[in-house]
Amino acid sequence: MSVERTLAIIKPDAIAKGVAGQIVTRIENAGFKILAAKLIRMSHEDAAGFYVVHKARPFYRSLCTFMTQGPCLPMVLEGDNVIQRWRELMGATDPAKAAPGTIRRDFAASIEANAVHGSDSLESAAFEIPYFFASLELCPR
Ligand code: ATP
Ligand code: MG
Repeated sequence: MSVERTLAIIKPDAIAKGVAGQIVTRIENAGFKILAAKLIRMSHEDAAGFYVVHKARPFYRSLCTFMTQGPCLPMVLEGDNVIQRWRELMGATDPAKAAPGTIRRDFAASIEANAVHGSDSLESAAFEIPYFFASLELCPR
C-alpha cells in the first residue's frame, strides 16, 4: 500500500442533477481525504488542454463541449492506492457496463455524461492535479 493523490472531478451532468453531495459522501465513506475542491466552469480551451491525451479520439470535441456545459467540481483526493480505488468506486466508463453500487451505475446517463473523472495513473495524476490546483491550495491532514 502506498499513499497516493488523485484528481477527481464531479462532472457537469452530476452537478446539474444535484448529486454532488451524494458523490462526496461516497468519497468520505471510502476514507479518502479531500485535500482540495473548487467549483469551476471550464472554457473549451481548459477542457481541451485537460483531455489533450484524447485529442485523436472521435469523441474529443463532443467531450470538451460536454465538460463546459456547466460547472464541475475538481478535487484532490489522498489515500492508500487512491488512484485505483477511486476508479473502482467510479465504475466502468460506460454506465451500462459499470458494476452495481458504483457511482457511474447509479448516477451516469451515458458513456460521455458519466458523472465523474479519476486519474488513471501516477503519471496522469501528476499532470492533472496541478492543472487545477496550485500547491498552496492543497490542505494536507
Ligand atoms: P475519465 O478519464 O473521465 O476518468 P475514463 O478514464 O473511464 O474516464 P477515458 O477513456 O479516459 O475514460 O475517456 C475520457 C472521457 O471521455 C470519459 O469519461 C467519457 O466522458 C468520454 N468518453 C470516453 N469514451 C467515449 C465514447 N466512446 N463516446 C463519448 N464519450 C466518451
Ligand atoms: Mg481517463
